[in-house]
Amino acid sequence: MKITFAHMGNLYITVKALLEDLGAEVVVPPMPSKRTLSIGSRYSPEFACLPLKVNIGNYIEAMELGADTIAMAGGVGPCRFGLYGEVQREILKALGYEFEMIIIEPPQGRLRHVLRQLGRLVGRNSVGKYVSAVRLAWAKMTAVDELEKVVQRVRPFESRRGAATAALASALKLVDEASSIAQVKRALEDGREMLLSVRAPENSVPDPPRIGIVGEVYVVLEPFVNFEVERRLGEMGVLVERSIYIGDWVREHLFKDLLRLRKGRRPYDLAKPYLCHFVGGHGVETVGHTVEYAKRRFDGVIQLAPFTCMPEIVAQDVLPSVSRDLGIPVMTLVFDEHSSDAGVLTRLEAFVDLVERSRRRRAAKGARG
Ligand code: SF4
Repeated sequence: MKITFAHMGNLYITVKALLEDLGAEVVVPPMPSKRTLSIGSRYSPEFACLPLKVNIGNYIEAMELGADTIAMAGGVGPCRFGLYGEVQREILKALGYEFEMIIIEPPQGRLRHVLRQLGRLVGRNSVGKYVSAVRLAWAKMTAVDELEKVVQRVRPFESRRGAATAALASALKLVDEASSIAQVKRALEDGREMLLSVRAPENSVPDPPRIGIVGEVYVVLEPFVNFEVERRLGEMGVLVERSIYIGDWVREHLFKDLLRLRKGRRPYDLAKPYLCHFVGGHGVETVGHTVEYAKRRFDGVIQLAPFTCMPEIVAQDVLPSVSRDLGIPVMTLVFDEHSSDAGVLTRLEAFVDLVERSRRRRAAKGARG
């Protein structure tokens, strides 16, 4: 059995570590590329949202490398995600691929159910083995999140364009190759040092603009589909913060669900004056995090959404009121297979320009007042 799964940012480091430690043979698909998207778009329904199309491309590219089993997360709720496993299975079967698809449904407190599903992928393992594999995967996930946060803080001040991105790639490789928790800790320390060393003191701006990124989890976390929004903003001298990291997503959607713990309420509470119903996906969180960034005096917020994503369309309708009430510029970028590099870059440059002007206006008002 050669297992594969879809990419979502650097999640592959965690998933690969977990499955391999439990004895599975893993085929990591090639990183998403234009070819991946072109294959996925060719074989997916036109109206399907972008993540499904890229996932289909990931699976086909992995099967070309010998994968015969697909692990896929299931879901519940008003958006289309809950159907995706079945839709993807049908598309690939109709194309003549022979494979098994194992859909891991949300745990909803059923530990046994989760272990049974995992067992179908990796065979029998002792409880101790599961515990040690989860601990290693968790350590890697936390290290990846930490490195991604460091690179966001460093990039606006890098000595040469691209230095922080290159250092991050080297640091992630160290984490990926680590085979024990001690090695992960060392990789994190070395990675952090590599990233901090690319800073040039002469590039230090005392107060760079701060922009928060909110939106649908897949598009926020996958740099290929969002045209590397974070890197581009960082290289324009902007301090970027993301509303969600892979660790948050796993903690909220897997662990708290598994242990039936109460999920974090803060984004829901903050969104309440504008949106008080669950709308699927991360629609409510998008609104809540935008309010939070405004309260933390960020200079702007960018919402990232796949074309036709229902939860993000609802959030997008609400965001102009948040922007007006709390005085924070907000821009929405919608992605599909027709989005272009130049188009995204132009909109980012225009938004940074707008954010700078609004900062200057605020500063002038403060000086007068
Ligand atoms: S959250 Fe949006 S993009 Fe993701 S599956 Fe649901 S509708 Fe599609």
